[in-house]
Amino acid sequence: MNYKDYIRVIPDFPQPGISFKDITTLLQDGEVYRRVIQDLAERFKDLHIDCIAGPEARGFVIGAPLAVALGVGFVPIRKSGKLPGETIEADYALEYGKDKLAMHKDAIKPGQKVLIADDLLATGGTIATSINLVKQLGGEVVGAAFLIELLELNGKEKLGGIDIFSLVQYN
Ligand code: AMP
Repeated sequence: MNYKDYIRVIPDFPQPGISFKDITTLLQDGEVYRRVIQDLAERFKDLHIDCIAGPEARGFVIGAPLAVALGVGFVPIRKSGKLPGETIEADYALEYGKDKLAMHKDAIKPGQKVLIADDLLATGGTIATSINLVKQLGGEVVGAAFLIELLELNGKEKLGGIDIFSLVQYN
């Protein structure tokens, strides 16, 4: 199955020059969505992870079902101000300005093996910040799972030596 056939590419969204990879068209097809999750689960099942952490919002769409498939818990990484308990935060650079991501302080226990999941790896900024948060809590990031990777942005370089895997790549 070629997942690219199910991903809609929209030019110049949200701004001129960005080729937006819209996964909503893939998610509409239950069988294709299930196979995406199964493929990622198969790839990471031997890492013996303790939980999956995913940044809002599309990291939930990949990370939560992947956690269920692997039989582990899911930890949300959210924009600042959304989580109700005690949090830690880290800044991350956006194209214009910056924002903060947050996690609950008790979301991960020291020494736990964590897999990060998101829909798409672009510059790697979001995932680098997610890794930073997990490490602050004492977790060990063992890998990162993506549906899509944009190769020319070289996001992998920001992510150190962890096991990175994507199902679909665009140049
Ligand atoms: P980055 O921090 O640059 O790796 O960007 C990661 C987040 O931005 C991903 O979680 C995507 O949801 C979103 N994103 C960035 N570029 C694109 C794109 N070309 N198409 C769709 N989503 C994108």
